[in-house]
Amino acid sequence: LTLPAPRRIKALAEDVVNKIAAGEIIVAPVHALKELIENAVDAGATALEILVKEGGLKLLQITDNGHGIDVRLEHHKEDLPILCERFTTSKLKEFEDLNSIGTYGFRGEALASISHIAHLSVTTRTKESSCAWRAHYADGKLASPKPSQSAEPKPIAGRQGTQITVEDLFYNVPSRRKAFRSASEEYAKILDMVGRYAIHCSGVAFSCKKHGDSSTSISVSATAGSLERIKQIHGRAVANELVSFKAENDRWGFKCDALISSANYSSKRTTILLFINHRSVESQVIKKAVEQTYATFLPKGGRPFIYLSLEIEPQRVDVNVHPTKREVHFLNEDEIVSIICDEIRTSLGKVDTSRSFTTQT
Ligand code: ADP
Ligand code: MG
Repeated sequence: LTLPAPRRIKALAEDVVNKIAAGEIIVAPVHALKELIENAVDAGATALEILVKEGGLKLLQITDNGHGIDVRLEHHKEDLPILCERFTTSKLKEFEDLNSIGTYGFRGEALASISHIAHLSVTTRTKESSCAWRAHYADGKLASPKPSQSAEPKPIAGRQGTQITVEDLFYNVPSRRKAFRSASEEYAKILDMVGRYAIHCSGVAFSCKKHGDSSTSISVSATAGSLERIKQIHGRAVANELVSFKAENDRWGFKCDALISSANYSSKRTTILLFINHRSVESQVIKKAVEQTYATFLPKGGRPFIYLSLEIEPQRVDVNVHPTKREVHFLNEDEIVSIICDEIRTSLGKVDTSRSFTTQT
């Protein structure tokens, strides 16, 4: 029996490390877009416009009216050059700040990752600035848009806010690029994600459009309330059957706000729009528990629509489990889920009684 000879251990080249890390965070165009949406909301934007070409693989562009990137004369030479470096952020200074973090971002990894697997450019203008600045990036660093031009950020005309343009996602990761079979599948994922944030972020206008289309796929105004937003995105049938509840519990340190379909509504699939501390996340635990709770109220095979916004004391939530932040763990999950399901049961029961009451009289 011959064993293979051991190979020498060597450090990976930095660009290989960066590309691998980027591919872990950005698996599909929708993951890049989610980061860009969160950045815009972090910047205090009240309007977000999203433009998508070929399911986001060719183009993802998001324009916001937020505070912009600090490009005052004395700063633009500092902030723009490091914008797409890994672990550069304006949101976190100390590890302890994570306990009270009020922004989506804190790792300073998103733009860096995107710049390693796509062509990224930024146009940004603050309120104080007399002009906007544009910069192009590749592999974490400023890059020139054309070989003959310099990589220095350039002053140009522009509105207050930030526009991020991501082109040719995965252009340098051919295996990943090939794995996408259909642009419309990727666009559907993008619409799902934009719809989630458009429903959750009250006070913020959202629009999302496929390049070349004359009309928008999603459009909600800044003044629309949650119910109106759900109606525009998911339709009248579900919006007309929603009931709301709030719950709060000091012992487990949580608050929750929900809009849930009544027993009169049932669909083939469960729609759960789950937000934990304002971040769109998934939770199989919550989904299962909710479906079980509904099972006694809905016809066989019927599924509910749930919009659930949970606020849990930051020190009880670990958002730091994975760079994608898609998964969130929190303390006393079972207790919290059971309180929520009790509330759902009560709300559904209430609607039922009032129905039978009205039909009796
Ligand atoms: P993080 O959000 O974790 O800080 P990112 O890589 O997503 O990291 O962004 C890096 C930095 O770029 C942010 O901290 C912020 O200062 C700036 N930035 C990114 N997008 C925007 C935006 N739309 N408006 C204003 N600043 C932004
Ligand atoms: Mg971010």
